[in-house]
Amino acid sequence: MKVYKFGGASVKDASSVRNVVEVLKKTSYENVFIVVSAMGKTTNALERVVGAYFDESDYESILNEVQDNHLTIAKELFSENSTVFDEIKVFFSDVNAFLRRNKSPKYDFVYDQVVSCGEMISTKILSAYMNDIGLDNQWIDIRDYLKTDSNYREGKVDFEQTEENFKKLPQKSLYITQGFIGSNDNYFTVTLGREGSDYTAAIIAYCLNAESMTIWKDVPGVLNGDPREFSDTVLLESISYLEAIELAYYGASVIHPKTMKPLQNKEIPFYVKSFIEPLKPGTSIQKGHKIVPKVPCYIVKKNQILLNISAKDFSFIAEENLKEIYELITENKLKVNLLQVSALKLSLCIEDKYNKINEFIESISDKYLVKKVEDTILYTSRHFNQESQNKLTKDKVILLEQVTKNTFQVVVQN
Ligand code: ADP
Ligand code: ASP
Ligand code: MG
Repeated sequence: MKVYKFGGASVKDASSVRNVVEVLKKTSYENVFIVVSAMGKTTNALERVVGAYFDESDYESILNEVQDNHLTIAKELFSENSTVFDEIKVFFSDVNAFLRRNKSPKYDFVYDQVVSCGEMISTKILSAYMNDIGLDNQWIDIRDYLKTDSNYREGKVDFEQTEENFKKLPQKSLYITQGFIGSNDNYFTVTLGREGSDYTAAIIAYCLNAESMTIWKDVPGVLNGDPREFSDTVLLESISYLEAIELAYYGASVIHPKTMKPLQNKEIPFYVKSFIEPLKPGTSIQKGHKIVPKVPCYIVKKNQILLNISAKDFSFIAEENLKEIYELITENKLKVNLLQVSALKLSLCIEDKYNKINEFIESISDKYLVKKVEDTILYTSRHFNQESQNKLTKDKVILLEQVTKNTFQVVVQN
């Protein structure tokens, strides 16, 4: 079995859906397990629905807009009498009914029940379209297989149970399922974190002992920098799992950071390819691969907060302080992207996904003096040289810098 993942950009409209079929026809549609994300920017729109619901503003009109977008795409793909239109409407009326009945004040729980419908609908559309044109396929509700704990919005996967469940998969040659979502013991939907569909594909590849996994992107493969940020990027033809882990960890958003580990554990070859030119080799990620070509790689992380923390009694920053501060960082779900400790100061470059930074600062401000710089940018260069260092720092106000053997990082003012 091969696992293919098509992200939001590859199913953003009717012609993209048709292109998915082109990719399959040019490559393979036998013994293929397809993982699909929500169409285009649907997840962002559904996040706005949840926001409006909690703000007690008009969430229904946003939901209707999302429904209309899907119906418009479906009109281009299906004949008028297709059952798919009703199926799409049922998904939306179910979400609406859930919100009307819901009594839970828990944002993350409600978020997962609502936002997950993006993937349910995109897979229904793709599966129905492929069946219509004669590509017989089995639609799978991944929540029957992929089990997680109840950590809503950041579900932790129960690999043992999930692998067991996959043994009960019906015998078919072509499957279509949802990325990004799973379910807990009570069958409530739990999402795996934004951009989590790459990770879903890797979990499935792991459970099926797949011969390979390919994620189809709007870029030729993994480049040595995000083409939206850097000109003159080059394609990395091959890299090791470890290199891919490092790049994703530092923020190369072309691959979700959790993706590599399940693949690496079973040494499943992993490809990142272009859905526009599917026959091109793209990037091959395998054990022990050298980085080819060996060029500096660049990663940008925006909207970072730099904190400089020192003890009010001028004591050294030592193990006890670090433990205390780190516990509160974890509690507030902050993500530390760079850390530097000196005798009297702890510097942290932080991503604040859940708007918790002020709560965190408040919780340590009795004992510590905290200086906060908002809106900074973290640049990372792997395999850097003098030229790449200059490229990242030229004309910038440098706030923090860190160099290790292979990696140069710098936090600058935006
Ligand atoms: P998906 O459709 O699967 O969600 P994404 O939009 O998440 O795809 O990922 C593809 C995008 O990742 C590209 O359009 C590109 O702008 C961005 N990107 C960031 N870093 C890199 C990189 N090093 N190489 C290629 N693309 C990158
Ligand atoms: N649809 C989800 C998101 O936009 C998951 C994914 O695309 O990977 O975050
Ligand atoms: Mg994405």
